[in-house]
Amino acid sequence: MQKFSVDDRGYYGDFGGAYIPEILYGCVTELQRKYLEIMESKSFQKEFHALLRDYVGRPSPLYHSGQLSERYGCKIYLKREDLNHTGAHKINNTIGQILIAQRMGKTRIIAETGAGQHGVATATVCALMQMPCTVYMGKTDVERQAPNVKKMEMLGATVVPVTSGNMTLKDATNEAIRDWCSHPEDTYYIIGSTIGPHPYPDMVARLQSVIGKEIKAQLMEKEGRDYPDYLIACVGGGSNAGGTIYDFIDNKKVKIVLAEAGGKGINSGYSAATIQLGTVGVLHGCKTLLMQTEDGQITEPYSISAGLDYPGIGPVHAFLASVKRAQVLAINDDEAIDAAFELTRKDGIIPALESAHALAALGKIDFKPSDVVVLTLSGRGDKDMETYINVRMG
Ligand SMILES: *Cc1c(COP(=O)(O)O)cnc(C)c1O
Repeated sequence: MQKFSVDDRGYYGDFGGAYIPEILYGCVTELQRKYLEIMESKSFQKEFHALLRDYVGRPSPLYHSGQLSERYGCKIYLKREDLNHTGAHKINNTIGQILIAQRMGKTRIIAETGAGQHGVATATVCALMQMPCTVYMGKTDVERQAPNVKKMEMLGATVVPVTSGNMTLKDATNEAIRDWCSHPEDTYYIIGSTIGPHPYPDMVARLQSVIGKEIKAQLMEKEGRDYPDYLIACVGGGSNAGGTIYDFIDNKKVKIVLAEAGGKGINSGYSAATIQLGTVGVLHGCKTLLMQTEDGQITEPYSISAGLDYPGIGPVHAFLASVKRAQVLAINDDEAIDAAFELTRKDGIIPALESAHALAALGKIDFKPSDVVVLTLSGRGDKDMETYINVRMG
């Protein structure tokens, strides 16, 4: 049987690994040695699950949408990560990582953020745990995402605008790694998706796997079987998708569909469809598919959704796509917007633009009436109101 989980060296097939500067070797190998033991310990499990329940509001509901089911000719459930505290799945990861940081004796947290959502989720748990927090953010993004910058500051974090390169996420990531290199002893770097050097991709997928574990139990209750025919999720770096599929990956009866951001079209030059357009390279400490020029310069990705315009993709997803365990669909901006309005009008749920990419995938799949489909609604649309208003209601 094909193995889909990470190997001892941190690889999924040819993707993954830990490509780090020498000075980080000590703290990254320490994390590699300790993360499983910490995550499996009683004290971690107890504190993590208590916070997920009482602070985040888990379990998140598995909602059967009668209207979407009728429209697409199958049985559709939405996994409501939009109902979590701070409005998306990202908080599952940041709570888990700050508990790991504490158990490793770290006293200071750093993070990078693009759209600001991971920065807010990190600043939130740092306030909760009373730990100092520095968030690196490209200056362009600081200007584009003012409300999230204000939230982080209100939560007590220091937001550092990064002025190198294009002044976006990749540059913020470089700056965070530079900070980490200067303070490897006391600083823990909370990475926001299933990316980064091993063990981050596996660690983040495991922390987010609470999504899939709840789906299992909820399907058992509602359908009398603990797996769906389809799992659908959007992919930026791949954490909500990674957590959704984690416990189903070896079950071949479960089809996996990943929706990436096609932007204005995958051949338009304005796209973030990394799996379809990317080539192999190293970014953010791991080997994966990247949007890059022939000589290895990272090209700026584009999507209407700020949370999906990452130039790389989690190594696990690059692998699952390469061995055809996952089907990857590129969803264009206008398809995502249509899907967001459809869910809003049919179910009274305004989804995040990222999640709308997963919703738009529904129209591209040939379902049978008996198919049970679970789609992870990764976040709520409050943060995207300006975009919705500008493109459709202005
Ligand atoms: C950040 C974000 C994403 C993309 O990140 P992944 O790591 O791919 O899950 C998707 N949806 C929402 C709501 C987000 O905030």
